[in-house]
Amino acid sequence: MSVSMETIVNLCKRRGFVFPSSEIYGGFASTWDYGPLGVELKRNIREAWWHYMVTARENIVGVETAVLMHPRVWEASGHVAGFSDPLVDCRTCKRRFRADQIPPKADRQCPKGMECDFTEARQFNLMFKTYVGPVEDEAAIAFLRPETAQGMFVNFLNVQQTSRLKPPFGIAQIGKSFRNEITPGNFIFRTREFEQMEMEFFVKPGSDEEWFDYWREQRMRWYTDHLGIKKTHLRFYHYKKEELAHYAKACTDIEYSYPFGWGELEGIANRTDFDLRRHAEYSGKDLTFFDEETRERYFPYVIEPAVGVDRVFLVCLLDAYDEDVQDNEPRVVLRLHPRLAPIKVGIFPLLRKEGQPEKALAIRDLLKHHFTVFYDQAGSIGRRYRRQDEIGTPFGITVDHQTMQDDTVTLRDRDSTQQIRIPIDRLIGELQARLSS
Ligand code: ATP
Repeated sequence: MSVSMETIVNLCKRRGFVFPSSEIYGGFASTWDYGPLGVELKRNIREAWWHYMVTARENIVGVETAVLMHPRVWEASGHVAGFSDPLVDCRTCKRRFRADQIPPKADRQCPKGMECDFTEARQFNLMFKTYVGPVEDEAAIAFLRPETAQGMFVNFLNVQQTSRLKPPFGIAQIGKSFRNEITPGNFIFRTREFEQMEMEFFVKPGSDEEWFDYWREQRMRWYTDHLGIKKTHLRFYHYKKEELAHYAKACTDIEYSYPFGWGELEGIANRTDFDLRRHAEYSGKDLTFFDEETRERYFPYVIEPAVGVDRVFLVCLLDAYDEDVQDNEPRVVLRLHPRLAPIKVGIFPLLRKEGQPEKALAIRDLLKHHFTVFYDQAGSIGRRYRRQDEIGTPFGITVDHQTMQDDTVTLRDRDSTQQIRIPIDRLIGELQARLSS
């Protein structure tokens, strides 16, 4: 089903996925805080990405580099000179737009009968500037990184030599990036502080186009096969030559069908040898790779899949949201892939007597070392199931009268609502099997 952004924003607030930041002070424009369920979902997204991109591959390793880097990095990368958006202001309604994203007249909010009166476009650098140390002068200027990628490029030699890797190999990183976006919005789709998952894959020049195709296919597969995102909600967008960033030879976005239209989810770029060459030039260090076997020396080309954790988070919620009717009662159900669900197992005593709560708590203590679990004894069993369905909990365990006789419980599946009876000592194996299938 299609769901509105408003529904998702409300669900996130109501159930503790995402809160407006600094809310008690009236919020702070386009900043969001992740709540108890949100952090679990985010962790699961990072973990799924890391497993797919790093752990399950023998030629990709990770780093975590500093947010504040030497200012020369951003000169070499081209961000000081070129990381800007054209900006226009409306003199009438005082609103500010990206020149390439001016909304249609009807959405511009100028008073009735009046036209927007735009200023000339001027370039606006998207990097957040700050000062390092006590003196606020030119020499102390530093930037909050606008992408994590440069941390991998400046560590190319460190990683390649310590890990004894040769192209093709990759360096991956997950971390915060900052961009002073002119038009943030659509909830967590575009914010000024966000988290990226990026991987720089270094290859021999000439093999770059083949690897570019490989990564496009691999990245699409992650969404469909590993996160369970619907294929019909995803598509590729191939950049035309004139749309490419200064460093790129080719770029393809994976787009998602958001409630506000198709938009970027992930970008996959062929960054050529631009970054290594520029850092070699600006730092004076030799950043070429020497192949001992073929006796060749070259600057590797780089293929980069880059995506925002927050954007994947939004897509997972939009894609999983569903409403149906169970036992004549409407329910909201998040059909999240079990791998992503913030809580894997809800545990409920049917009645608050006969020792059922104590038994259910003992099961919670047994399972909590293996899965995220939630114990709930409040309200009717139907309501308890629905509370878990709404946050995507894939499994529910109920302790009932029979449990007290034979140590079996019911195990309920969120999507089908089917229940089976199963001995307590088989629960861990059964849940593990279902989670990994
Ligand atoms: P746009 O053109 O929409 O500003 P971009 O093409 O500059 O975005 P990239 O530099 O390719 O974005 O960043 C890689 C990924 O990082 C994006 O696909 C997106 O998932 C994420 N991302 C980029 N900017 C933001 C942001 N402001 N808020 C949240 N996520 C972002």
